[in-house]
Amino acid sequence: MSNKKRILTGDRPTGNLHLGHYLGSLKNRVELQNDYESYIIIADVQALTTHWEKDENLKNDIYQITLDYLAAGIDPEQSTIFIQSMIPEIHELTMYFALYTSVNVLRHNPTIKAEAEQHGFKDLTYGFLGYPVSQTADISIFKAHLVPVGEDQIPHIELARKIIRRFNDLYAPVLVEPEALIGEVPRLVGLDGNNKMSKSLNNAIYLKDSKDEIAKKINNAVTDPARIRKDDPGHPEVCSVYQYQKIFNPAEVAQIEADCRAGQIGCVACKKNLTGKIDELLEPMRERRANYTEDMVKDILLAGTKKAHNVALATMEEVREAMKISYFK
Ligand code: ATP
Ligand code: MG
Repeated sequence: MSNKKRILTGDRPTGNLHLGHYLGSLKNRVELQNDYESYIIIADVQALTTHWEKDENLKNDIYQITLDYLAAGIDPEQSTIFIQSMIPEIHELTMYFALYTSVNVLRHNPTIKAEAEQHGFKDLTYGFLGYPVSQTADISIFKAHLVPVGEDQIPHIELARKIIRRFNDLYAPVLVEPEALIGEVPRLVGLDGNNKMSKSLNNAIYLKDSKDEIAKKINNAVTDPARIRKDDPGHPEVCSVYQYQKIFNPAEVAQIEADCRAGQIGCVACKKNLTGKIDELLEPMRERRANYTEDMVKDILLAGTKKAHNVALATMEEVREAMKISYFK
């Protein structure tokens, strides 16, 4: 057993991963996988909290998301990638946490509210309302210290800390209070310029996009509407392409901003430049992705889930002991 501290984080298998995931969380996971014992959860049950009647893509999405991890530089020798539904003890622990978690606290959670609105949910299901409780079980069953996530997850990590603290007070101090680690871009805006980049909003550049696909998406991105001719002075502050230049092209952004304001660089040239920068970031990922076959991905998932399951089983022994429900031991 290593004495490194643990990381737990992951994603819902609801589609491929995009630049927002990379900068919000995945990049930190890649950078820290050597220093921490890392667990990456593919949260298929959590995906079903919003997609329960549309489950036909789950298996394919699980494969795709695993390929996204490997492409981004997750090393399966260092990081354990596993499937949530295959670890039933997570659902057992969710129930124990649910016993003392207030429904009102969940109802007032700002991320729950925003997501309910996004999905058009009026009458919230028990499973959707309770997904932060299940997330707390994901984290604490691995006794994770650190959770690399985007900004929308901050309320959930706060709640997880409270639920875990309460457990430790009520029963016995066996669980670890985690900290959120927010990525260098806590909330990457989407190509529409309004919302966060999201799998569900059709406003994303995916890690697996080809250069042509990137170029097409950036060409359609929202720029300064007041700029009609190339030499009209631009207003970078209202332009989504400029937002991306700041992130993906820090070395040239000051010059681009000055040239845009002076009407000396047109949107076409600016977009072409940005396409090149994003392509430079994604090209090595496309290469790594091509190294893996479907069988290799399956083996990585089965081995990862087995390892993660053993850790979960050990924690649950302690949890049941603490709750005085391991009757016949
Ligand atoms: P969905 O719309 O299906 O909920 P999503 O794009 O919100 O998909 P999740 O799987 O819910 O993705 O989130 C996975 C992780 O990626 C979380 O840590 C989340 O904070 C982070 N993340 C997602 N989108 C962004 C973004 N645009 N900027 C920064 N971080 C993000
Ligand atoms: Mg989400």
